[in-house]
Amino acid sequence: MRFGDERESSNFEDVTGRSEMGFGGGGGNPLGCLIPLVASRFGIGGVIVLVIGYFLLSSLGGLGGGGGGGIVPGTQQSAPAGQSTLDPNTRHFMLQVLASTEDTWGKLLGGRYTPTKLVAYSRAYQSGCGAAQSAMGPFYCPTDKKIYLDTEFFNELSQRFQAPGDFAQAYVIAHEVGHHVQDLEGRLDEAHNAQARASETEGNAIQVKVELQADCYAGVWAANAKDPEGGPVMEQGDFEEGMRAAEAIGDDTLQRQSQGTVVPDSFTHGTSAQRMEALQRGYKSGDPNVCKF
Ligand SMILES: [Zn+2]
Repeated sequence: MRFGDERESSNFEDVTGRSEMGFGGGGGNPLGCLIPLVASRFGIGGVIVLVIGYFLLSSLGGLGGGGGGGIVPGTQQSAPAGQSTLDPNTRHFMLQVLASTEDTWGKLLGGRYTPTKLVAYSRAYQSGCGAAQSAMGPFYCPTDKKIYLDTEFFNELSQRFQAPGDFAQAYVIAHEVGHHVQDLEGRLDEAHNAQARASETEGNAIQVKVELQADCYAGVWAANAKDPEGGPVMEQGDFEEGMRAAEAIGDDTLQRQSQGTVVPDSFTHGTSAQRMEALQRGYKSGDPNVCKF
């Protein structure tokens, strides 16, 4: 992507240096706060996440072994308390992406768009939707209207998911911003209400639609994102990076990797093919109306 001297968003909180303070146990294992969250059903009104569940299951798989120390091994442990551990280049990039989503959605929705806030944390933090934990992956919280992201996820994206590249990262942010757009449109409330009346399988199907729309909105943003001179910020190969990420985090692909089998009724985010199609649909058109469901 080519942002040039595109502005940075100011809707940002960097709590990477004090992330575990929210748990009052500085350096302690935050899983105690995580377990109730896992036991609950992840309704739309609660936490909207990109890849939630699969990380949690794999984390909890190791929990029985006793204590389960580092969820994110070998990272972000050396900075003095209170000091940001965020890489300056990553910070700059995220804030340019966020600013670009503000400009784009501001244009597309006019006065109806009010920005979301991005919270960068490391390892664990308290969100308006309960405990934020790296293992959950990035998520949007409708209660406080903020996006929570541990940038360690970008490393996972490139290494564990084999989806490197700046647009793969931008897609993650734009997907969460897409949930914020849905929130402003009242779609999250609608979906939450529909889920309350639905069976678990039907509820999952509703969530899949919400997630695919967020992917589509990420594509809409990318299609409309402009540099300060009005040129596209998307460069050769960028879109393919996003498609690789969308493919890697499809429910079927993740389930096949984590449990060897695929259970379609349990899908909450859509298959790899569906996620790629949604991102592509938004990107090809640039019109949020193609994302309707
Ligand atoms: Zn999502």
